[in-house]
Amino acid sequence: MSRSVFITGGNRGIGLAVARAMAADGDRVAIGHRAGEVPEGLRGVHCEVTDQQSVENAFAEVTAAQGAPEVLVANAGITRDALLLRMDDATFDEVLDTNLRGVFRTVRAAASHMLAERRGRIVLLSSALGFLGSPGQTNYAATKTALLGFARSLAWELGPRGITVNLVAPGIIETDMTEKLSDRRMRDTMRMTPLGRPGSAEEVAAAVRFLASEDAGYITGAALPVGGGIGMGI
Ligand code: NDP
Repeated sequence: MSRSVFITGGNRGIGLAVARAMAADGDRVAIGHRAGEVPEGLRGVHCEVTDQQSVENAFAEVTAAQGAPEVLVANAGITRDALLLRMDDATFDEVLDTNLRGVFRTVRAAASHMLAERRGRIVLLSSALGFLGSPGQTNYAATKTALLGFARSLAWELGPRGITVNLVAPGIIETDMTEKLSDRRMRDTMRMTPLGRPGSAEEVAAAVRFLASEDAGYITGAALPVGGGIGMGI
């Protein structure tokens, strides 16, 4: 059955791979984008997750074009790495506003329709390294681990209406976000990765697709690591 799907930050990286996987399944997929181009074949909706009005407009546009989202993938996220003593308030706040408040804004916009319809799937992009801890990422790790408490609390709120809320926690995935990692950092991280290689956006998309599927109907409040073994047991 074709569902209305909305993916924030879907113009590149993991979000784009999720969009392509779900569109290939026959879902009606809209991606949130900012200034970036909308990849061919996908419906693009302007959505800046740090801006409440932009999020509301995006949901209204998606709903008018393809029906209210039955699947939300809250994927938009950023890193702004710095050691704590060199991290200014603006850098800390920008990551919180995007990765945590941005998820709050988009999930809140999606939840009201899902509650009324008594169905829905919410998948949040967390991070395996967030759970392990990572120097220079106090801001990022704080947001990505906070999503677990957010998801588990929401799983209780939405569970009685059959709506699931889950996390995918990727390890090192080859996207623009990890391109700037130093060779040394990559080698160190691969030593902590049993499979010994970075993952692809498509491998993360496969996990998101599963958690968003009918087959995952009895899974909620879970954190699924997709990191070649890094983050096992989170
Ligand atoms: P990319 O940097 O490749 O893409 C990030 C996406 O998020 C872009 O589409 C970007 O839009 C969008 N975005 C960023 N800020 C905002 C904002 N304020 N409003 C709307 N959209 C925004 O990242 P990845 O694909 O690698 O990461 C996707 C998610 O997966 C993130 O949440 C990330 O934290 C998480 N993750 C990634 C890992 C990795 O190794 N790559 C590992 C663990 C987690 P634009 O093009 O306009 O900048």
